[in-house]
Amino acid sequence: MKSVNYNPFHVAQAQFDSAADLLGLDDATRALLRNPIREFHFLIPVKMDNGKIQVFKGFRIQHNDARGPAKGGLRFHPQETVDTVRALSMWMTWKTAVADIPLGGGKGGVVCDPHNLSGDEQERLCRGWVRQVYKNIGPNMDIPAPDVMTNAQHMLWMLDEYETLTGGRYPGAITGKPVGMGGSLGRTEATGYGAIITLREALKELNMDPGNTTASVQGFGNVSQYAIELYLQLGGTVVCVSAWDQKDQTSYAFAKKEGVNLEELRSISNSFGGIDKSKAADLGYSVLPGEQWLEQEVDILIPAALENQINEENVNQISKQVKIVVEGANGPTTPEASAVFEKNGVFIIPDFLANAGGVTCSYFEQVQSNMNYFWTKEEVLSKLDTKMTNAFLSVSNFAMENNLSMRSAAYAISVDRVARACHDRGWV
Ligand code: GLU
Repeated sequence: MKSVNYNPFHVAQAQFDSAADLLGLDDATRALLRNPIREFHFLIPVKMDNGKIQVFKGFRIQHNDARGPAKGGLRFHPQETVDTVRALSMWMTWKTAVADIPLGGGKGGVVCDPHNLSGDEQERLCRGWVRQVYKNIGPNMDIPAPDVMTNAQHMLWMLDEYETLTGGRYPGAITGKPVGMGGSLGRTEATGYGAIITLREALKELNMDPGNTTASVQGFGNVSQYAIELYLQLGGTVVCVSAWDQKDQTSYAFAKKEGVNLEELRSISNSFGGIDKSKAADLGYSVLPGEQWLEQEVDILIPAALENQINEENVNQISKQVKIVVEGANGPTTPEASAVFEKNGVFIIPDFLANAGGVTCSYFEQVQSNMNYFWTKEEVLSKLDTKMTNAFLSVSNFAMENNLSMRSAAYAISVDRVARACHDRGWV
């Protein structure tokens, strides 16, 4: 367990402050971008299967919508806090800006553990969330999507509630919907695949052959599974995957020197990405304490779970062999740990660049929903590749030209784009 409590919003604000200093932003622009422009906090009463009412705490936070409607996921998590949602909403603003898509940043959350909710209870919770906030979201205002522990089915229930309340069909109001119900092919894969597209470009830049590299991954949810899938297709070897164990309320690392088998792990995992440890042991995996995912002697670390996972308490346990960190999760590395990586010459692909594939494909989903004409998976993935590659190259070129870290360069580009949008609109 971590002994220090990291507040992700303080981290996000400190990162923004450094970017603002670098860009020499004026005081009004700083004041506007340091905090979310709009916040909604509400209670959601839900009738549980046993007939009793349980009241959940929910949020939707819009950090900035100068470049387009706010955009970002909705998380279900027992440890969700308003500051986590604030940080995540701010990171969404930088993410849509660095990917150069015409959207702003927002995030939602509900304090709950969906492991303990039946399907019907989850449906009522999704509908209840929409009832509280439907006047403030929508295709031209703020578009929710899946995130930690939410999925396509949740999105469809939310869209149905939104359309029932507003009296129309607005498929662009929510993204990450099921394919065939306004969803886009490739959306499920997009975040994990996008992360590996940025890794592929980083490997080229570092003159490393993917086929000779090894990786260790934290998390076995949607992002992680598709990141592993594409990385394996590039020829890489994943030697360790760590996953949360709901029963033991801790995580375990599943290691195999010759490389994990993705399909095998999928076949023994649940819908939240938990891996059955006795079945894994039977299949020849070493089951280790969860933290050991970051102690592996690998070239690449892919944190694809939650924020603050690599911090000052564990960064020094990381093998000197690690050359690249691909931040599949939002905010997985604290500033202290990030500074250690920089000192050691580790190449970090920062979160809001590395995991921008999800929201980029959400944007494609909106475009397709609005046209009511859907592209093939190949078309979606090739557009995703173009967008992610361009985003990576603009950040890495800017980093090289200005002698900045990848994170600082990504911040400089995105904060500048958003600040200009606010300025051009006459807000500041
Ligand atoms: N929740 C994802 C993220 O953090 C996707 C957001 C979206 O598609 O709007 O980027």
